[in-house]
Amino acid sequence: MDIIADLFTDFPEKFGIPRQAGQAPSSQGRVVLRPAFARPEAVRGLEGYSHIWLLFQFHQAQGWRPTVRPPRLGGNRRLGVFASRSPFRPNPIGLSVFRLEGIDCDDGVCLHVSGVDILDGTPVLDIKPYLPWADCVSAQGGFADEVPATLTVSLSRQAESSLAQMAEGNRLRSLLAQTLGLDPRPAYHEDPERIYFSNLAGLEVQWRICEDVVEVLSVDAAD
Ligand code: SAM
Repeated sequence: MDIIADLFTDFPEKFGIPRQAGQAPSSQGRVVLRPAFARPEAVRGLEGYSHIWLLFQFHQAQGWRPTVRPPRLGGNRRLGVFASRSPFRPNPIGLSVFRLEGIDCDDGVCLHVSGVDILDGTPVLDIKPYLPWADCVSAQGGFADEVPATLTVSLSRQAESSLAQMAEGNRLRSLLAQTLGLDPRPAYHEDPERIYFSNLAGLEVQWRICEDVVEVLSVDAAD
């Protein structure tokens, strides 16, 4: 099997990445086909689809166990790995549905996508169009049946003014609200005093959670 493309995203580290696709619609990615596959005719017709499936390699997940502790269950209940979407699987293959924002064939082949839940630099195994009549079913969602609750995100004055000076300030403000609002803390680390550091979309962000509100303390452009 070949790696057909590389996916470049807003997420240089695992901490803070949404746990599923579509949870942060402001997150962006570029699927850049590798030279052997960068043939414009290979994506002919894809422009007619609003969404695509991506099959990819969880390249930063090593090893697997038959059971995992899903964050959705507070990290203290074990379920079977095949009843989860954990990256730590015998074959570390992930699949996500992304919105297809555009296709650029000027220099190689690049698909612009949004609603991303994947680490920057992830190797891509395959791309397929999302077929609503076949792929969208009325289904039962097991232990993860409910849409996850989100927290309110409040930005400090420094964070607001720093974002206001950035070319992509509006998108980045939405991206922060969407990703931090998902409460990226590990399930069993709920220390209200703790200040967290995240890197995303070229930003260094300091934040903490006080009484179900995410307080963004500072935002700076990463070097
Ligand atoms: N939608 C995909 C699926 O269901 O297969 C991914 C779901 S998985 C729960 C998403 C998480 O995998 C992210 O929050 C991040 O922590 C982790 N992740 C993303 N890309 C990864 C990579 N390339 N290697 C290892 N872990 C990754």
